[in-house]
Amino acid sequence: MKVLLIGSGGREHALAWKLAQSPLMTEFYAAPGNPGIAEHATLAAIDIEDHGAIVVFCKEKAIDFVVVGPEAPLVAGLADRLRAEGIAVFGPSAAAAQLEGSKGFTKDICARYDIPTGAYQRFNNAPKAKAYIRAQGAPIVVKADGLAAGKGVTVAMTVEEALAAVDDCFEGAFGAAGAEVVIEAYLDGEEASFFCLCDGKHALPLATAQDHKRVGDGDTGPNTGGMGAYSPAPVMTTEMVERTMKEIIEPTIRGMAESGHPFSGVFFAGLMITAKGPELIEYNVRFGDPECQVLMMRLKSDLLPLLLACTNGTLDQVSAEWSDDVALTVVMASKGYPGSYAKNTPISALPADSDGAKVFHAGTALQDGALVATGGRVLNVTATGKTVGEAQKRAYALAAEVQWPNGFNRTDIGWRAIGREKI
Ligand code: AMP
Repeated sequence: MKVLLIGSGGREHALAWKLAQSPLMTEFYAAPGNPGIAEHATLAAIDIEDHGAIVVFCKEKAIDFVVVGPEAPLVAGLADRLRAEGIAVFGPSAAAAQLEGSKGFTKDICARYDIPTGAYQRFNNAPKAKAYIRAQGAPIVVKADGLAAGKGVTVAMTVEEALAAVDDCFEGAFGAAGAEVVIEAYLDGEEASFFCLCDGKHALPLATAQDHKRVGDGDTGPNTGGMGAYSPAPVMTTEMVERTMKEIIEPTIRGMAESGHPFSGVFFAGLMITAKGPELIEYNVRFGDPECQVLMMRLKSDLLPLLLACTNGTLDQVSAEWSDDVALTVVMASKGYPGSYAKNTPISALPADSDGAKVFHAGTALQDGALVATGGRVLNVTATGKTVGEAQKRAYALAAEVQWPNGFNRTDIGWRAIGREKI
């Protein structure tokens, strides 16, 4: 099978590493990829916003299957374009990708299908949004409706903060994404991520994870794309997984099918485990980054047939086997991230991969044969262990071997779960 992977981050390196192990794979390409992905696939220098160029490449190389890593090409309709050209693709249509592309869209599905989530209202102007906030009081959550690179959400502890967030949205802080806002009740509990494949009709639960969004130790400082993650999430007991499937995932699949936009791809449900049970915070329509890295470390089955089953409508005929081990990843980022940071700083040494230990590349590049950091989040140092504590210890031992003076990482990934293990 000839496969093309779209993307260039740590998530895509993890997918590439896993896909390359498939006995079904005969030729493997990635666009645009990164130096880590280049160890598994031939890189193609295609602008992934140029869907026409991707189609031309697929035809030239007789690609059988395209796997789309990031959300932006999905929301922009890449999967639709490929399907229209008769090319099989893992990833939802643009209409189904609205589950991530529009928070209001998702909340409306929740309301229609009785899916547990915070009570909400949608607004397209500031005065009405502010009146609603004043009537509800704080804490309250203000969200730009569209894709805002993870920055469009304000969890406001005071009414003033919420009102300011509304002004930010309507004054264009998030561009077109903020033309509409969703105001949502604050949910109290522990967050977890749940991953589940879907072929439009059937669902195959994958695994759970927890990530660390804040830049600083103790979950302090500004939000980032994610500074580390581990899988499984201890808060996601068998009961919580079953309830999530029944109360959240299955009605969503039904809702999408009934709306004429059946969902095929991966559901990445952001959940709050509250005193009442699992409630939906948001959907993403692709694997999480860095959650994908820890999922792939634990997946024992061949990934390629699972992704193909999403496209072929045969997800009820496959199963996924998981390691009981914990996997934990530490993100190494450029000093200054998530603010501004220096580019092209040298990375002179990386630890060797071994069984259950791997460094995934995100924002790296080769310059004259030398590895440099080009992005904010640069490396994902990932290790497995029998416990979160053991996986953490191994991951930080590996991170200590990375020679990259301009890099930094959090030193406490997994702290909450490790605290639980100690009890
Ligand atoms: P989102 O981009 O929707 O995942 O929101 C980003 C973060 O904001 C989430 O990971 C939560 O930590 C927080 N958040 C979003 N919605 C709520 C809510 N209704 N209650 C409490 N926290 C929330």
